[in-house]
Amino acid sequence: MKLIDVHAHLESERFEKDLDEVISRFKEASGKFIITSGVNPSTNRKSLEIAKKYSDVVKVSFGIYPIDAIMEKIGDSGEEGMLRHVETFDVDDELRWIEENKDLCVAIGECGLDYKVVEGYNEEQKKVFFKVIELAKKIDKPLIIHSRKAESDAIGMMEEAGCKRVLMHCFNGKKSLIKRCVELGWSFSIPPVITRLEHFKMLVEMVPPEQLLTETDAPYLSPVVGERNESANVAVTIKEIAKIKGLSKGEVVEQIFDNAVKLFRL
Ligand SMILES: [Zn+2]
Repeated sequence: MKLIDVHAHLESERFEKDLDEVISRFKEASGKFIITSGVNPSTNRKSLEIAKKYSDVVKVSFGIYPIDAIMEKIGDSGEEGMLRHVETFDVDDELRWIEENKDLCVAIGECGLDYKVVEGYNEEQKKVFFKVIELAKKIDKPLIIHSRKAESDAIGMMEEAGCKRVLMHCFNGKKSLIKRCVELGWSFSIPPVITRLEHFKMLVEMVPPEQLLTETDAPYLSPVVGERNESANVAVTIKEIAKIKGLSKGEVVEQIFDNAVKLFRL
């Protein structure tokens, strides 16, 4: 078995005390790789440190989260709908830092568009996302996409830019958009919260096995309400995908491992 968690936030303060154990439990569950994602300058650097410390299992992706990126314009109201501290920073400076450190990351993300948390800043968000897409193309890295109530705009922008390597993380868009992403050859990563949310079951039904990946978004999106999520829980998603696709767990693990190696060139 070689489990993969393509999206987690190991730099979260909720892992501060016991990250060693969290990583050990993942390895004991036959875990192979975790991609930990930054969302702003401080988490990008912290994520990089974690990837260096646990270099046998942890890879890093550098992100520009849509809300943090426009924090200067929206003020403190941006933090209301968020589960963590939101930072103000200069997007161009951070994009430059990412480019300088491109050889240390396997992807760009978490990035995208979020019209749910703050309203009225769609154009500002798009301007930032456009720059992020351009950088990903320039340095030839896949994108790990967060899109909430903005799925159609996010897809449209990446399609127009000709993006080939795209991972839609925790995708909540409607069926027609899922179909469009599948046709574009993009991938979807499924969180263990699939046990509680019908939407993800439908998503797994619609997407070919070659375009599915497993994620946790740990510490968020736990399969158990109120509990902290962690990377070892990708096993929960594997079980659900196997059930829905009528495959053995071993077959699903192999397929997803191959998909991850291909998408992130691990
Ligand atoms: Zn995330």
